[in-house]
Amino acid sequence: MDFEKLAARLFPKEYPALEWYEERYPLRALEKGAEVTRLAPSPTGFIHLGNLFVAIANERIAHESGGVLYLRIEDTDLKRKVDGAVEAVIAALKYFDIQFDEGAEIGGSDAYAPWYQRQRAEIYHAYVKELVRRGRAYPCFCTEEELAALREVQTANKEITGYYGKYAKWRDAREEEVYAALDAGKPYVIRLRSMGDPAHKFTFHDEIKGDVTVTENDQDVVILKSDGIPTYHFAHAVDDHLMRTTLVIRGEEWLASLPIHLELFDTLGFRRPKYGHNCSLMKMDGASKRKLSKRKDPELSLSFYRQEGYHPYAVKVYMLTLLNSDFEEWHLKFPEKPLTEFKFRISKMSKSGALFDLDKLNDISKTELSRLSAEEMLAFLKEWAMEFGTEEEKGYFADEGYLLKALTLCMGIGGKKRRKDFITAKQAMEELRYFFAAPARRDEYRVDGETRAAILSEFLSSYSAADDAQVWFAKVKEVASKLGFAAEMRDYKADLAAYKGSVSDVAEVLRIATTGRANTPDLWTIMQILGEECVVARIKAAI
Ligand code: GLU
Repeated sequence: MDFEKLAARLFPKEYPALEWYEERYPLRALEKGAEVTRLAPSPTGFIHLGNLFVAIANERIAHESGGVLYLRIEDTDLKRKVDGAVEAVIAALKYFDIQFDEGAEIGGSDAYAPWYQRQRAEIYHAYVKELVRRGRAYPCFCTEEELAALREVQTANKEITGYYGKYAKWRDAREEEVYAALDAGKPYVIRLRSMGDPAHKFTFHDEIKGDVTVTENDQDVVILKSDGIPTYHFAHAVDDHLMRTTLVIRGEEWLASLPIHLELFDTLGFRRPKYGHNCSLMKMDGASKRKLSKRKDPELSLSFYRQEGYHPYAVKVYMLTLLNSDFEEWHLKFPEKPLTEFKFRISKMSKSGALFDLDKLNDISKTELSRLSAEEMLAFLKEWAMEFGTEEEKGYFADEGYLLKALTLCMGIGGKKRRKDFITAKQAMEELRYFFAAPARRDEYRVDGETRAAILSEFLSSYSAADDAQVWFAKVKEVASKLGFAAEMRDYKADLAAYKGSVSDVAEVLRIATTGRANTPDLWTIMQILGEECVVARIKAAI
């Protein structure tokens, strides 16, 4: 076969010599040890926790080493492309404060652009043409039906399925056959002519998993599809080479294709990057662990965290907790330090599945939110509410001074210890509701209806918003004594049978009548914030 002639027939266009690309995209001028990492999402419209997990690792490793993190959009699969998906990826990663240095829509240096694979067709073609010229790639005219039939035969024979060795029909096709097919205008793909030996296993060092034993590739994989667009395998090799990626961190689902990628890098004469295959996120399902699933687990989608109003910082803290085993201890010791000061190490990443647990995230969220100032909390809630809140909730921001008072109380600011009442913006807005509207939910009273009404009327007869906390509480105790409740806990404990209950039962009635809730911050302060008119109206309504 005259490969030169075949290459010219398949790719009539003249491309620059490959050296030109090497010069056009030179090695990056970075310090020794600086890592160039990337995030390479497909614009399918679904950005998940796994993307964020890998993004945080890439970002930390790049920036801690003085390197670069860039964003490449892998849009080779048109069938999966969704409008607005690129914007959605960028918005989601920005929300979680992932700092890219360059890439699609990032605005940094364009020295290694274009960043959309569809705009790089000519580059791929130049490299494929060269492989055809060297006899390392060839056209294959098999139809879908032929390939399906082949798979059936192989399955029946209990053989490995695919296009390889004796099954690679067009690998050594005669020149006349190839040209006849081309002349007939048959559609074709371009395949790699693999030189691998499946009997040969070798050890590969993965930066996360350590040494892994893999088998050489012998599949003549498709590198260019019939529409002239490369497959992931080929685009990965060309792009990560020309964009001068030094470290590829990606999901472990790609580990199985690693031998293909290594063969491609070697065949193309590219220096291999380092690889780190990141473990999948798992969750407990009953007593067993399983991978987070798009279908079953809403928490896999990043939009879940925005809609629920998780603070992005808390999510990041949790991701780092899962990514590096000693992060949690470090953060506990230095809660005030910027997360960028933590020594993130790829060697500390988990080799097997990381267990994702929403309860743990909720705990972290409570702690992180409790560290905000009232003003920061307000800004966070406002951003969430304006996008996701109800009309009523948006109205909570009409008087920010009032809301700040409520937040200061609910967060325990100025008290002995910060309260941890808030988990997410959504839940916080529900918690705060009683400051703005009559309680929608009512916790159950411990005290019967008749006694309740008596307590509330008795309280109203002497209530004044001008009373300070001591006077107010003395009056509540009086109500208690008058109606057969112990005014002092110790009296109650000493003789349970002598009382209907204690002052705490009385306070609970007032609390539920005013706020709808059995558990709230200090009731006197709540009443001060609500104001006399409102308190009286609510208590009357409860009676
Ligand atoms: N486009 C691939 C994906 O979304 C990227 C894998 C990689 O990082 O190389 O899974």
